[in-house]
Amino acid sequence: MTTKYDVVIIGAGPSGLTAALYAARANLKVLILDRGIYGGQMNNTDIIDNYPGFSEITGPELGEKMYQTTMKFKPDFKYGEVKSVSLEGDKKIIKTETEEYVTKALIIGTGANHKKLDIPGEKEYEGRGVSYCAVCDAAFFKDEDVAVIGGGDSAVEEGIYLAQLAKSVTVIHRRDQLRAQPILQKRAFANKKMHFIWNAQVLEIVGNENKVEGIVYRDKLTGEQKTLPVAGVFIYVGVKPQTDAFRDLGILDEQGWIPTDDKMHTKVAGIFAIGDVRAKDLRQIANAVGDGSIGGQEAYNYIQGLNDNMLDNKNLN
Ligand SMILES: Cc1cc2nc3c(=O)[nH]c(=O)nc-3n(C[C@H](O)[C@H](O)[C@H](O)COP(=O)(O)OP(=O)(O)OC[C@H]3O[C@@H](n4cnc5c(N)ncnc54)[C@H](O)[C@@H]3O)c2cc1C
Repeated sequence: MTTKYDVVIIGAGPSGLTAALYAARANLKVLILDRGIYGGQMNNTDIIDNYPGFSEITGPELGEKMYQTTMKFKPDFKYGEVKSVSLEGDKKIIKTETEEYVTKALIIGTGANHKKLDIPGEKEYEGRGVSYCAVCDAAFFKDEDVAVIGGGDSAVEEGIYLAQLAKSVTVIHRRDQLRAQPILQKRAFANKKMHFIWNAQVLEIVGNENKVEGIVYRDKLTGEQKTLPVAGVFIYVGVKPQTDAFRDLGILDEQGWIPTDDKMHTKVAGIFAIGDVRAKDLRQIANAVGDGSIGGQEAYNYIQGLNDNMLDNKNLN
């Protein structure tokens, strides 16, 4: 059976929840679809201290608050992984494995996901010492030595979080300095449990048949190959867009991100993109929420335009 909506929003991260709030508050019939739990990437982080209104809040708590605020305006919320979107005139047809939805406006807020290193041992030890989510897995490494790979905000922030439980946290970075914001760097350098290995190319994650035992890396300055014994490896080497379902729409750039104008319009009329999935420089909660508010409002304006056209056509006949 096909269900009809004014607006379908794919993704219940901060951008999608905000877009739903604006669209449902404007009295539109709104559906939010997500293949997982609401909150998106916020579920993978502990303390957030850069979202206005909360001096410190955990990611899952902020996700819960956003969800509750949005649901006050009664959009539908359904579980479903979107597999494809096609066009039929002004209509957008959205397919999950089991359901089909038709909508006047579509808002894509599917965000980004962690990149892999693609080195030997990474896949083999995933869930047995290799992780991409400190908040989910830190407890398994109480009083153990762990490594964090990467040098950006997520690597440093999650390293600081891990240091609360782990015996030591070694940040392994391919450059000679971190890319993370200065305030995070200052906290990390002041943390006695945190150590740094610079100019290192990680070659392999090694272990026994059950779990990780170490990381093999090459010192890029000397060429020397070394092994760091650790029980856990947390990988934060960047993100990639979640846009496979939208490949046939012709709205992606070469890297798979979705370019928009400053009103979140994509190349296709009535399809909007918001949050991390957009081609942009800063990917954070505050601007995901900002994008969501514009996307929700613009979907409303777009539908008003469709309704005005229909009225004009009726008056002409
Ligand atoms: C470890 C970590 C720490 C971070 N710390 C901070 C911080 O301290 N401060 C800050 O401002 N930002 C932080 N960020 C970034 C922030 O979480 C993101 O910028 C923000 O969540 C982006 O929101 P979004 O709504 O665009 O997408 P996301 O949060 O990525 O949500 C996208 C949603 O879409 C769903 N989805 C994807 N594809 C499909 C599909 N095909 N069908 C159905 N559903 C789909 C996903 O399940 C997900 O729920 C952090 C990120 C990480 C990973």
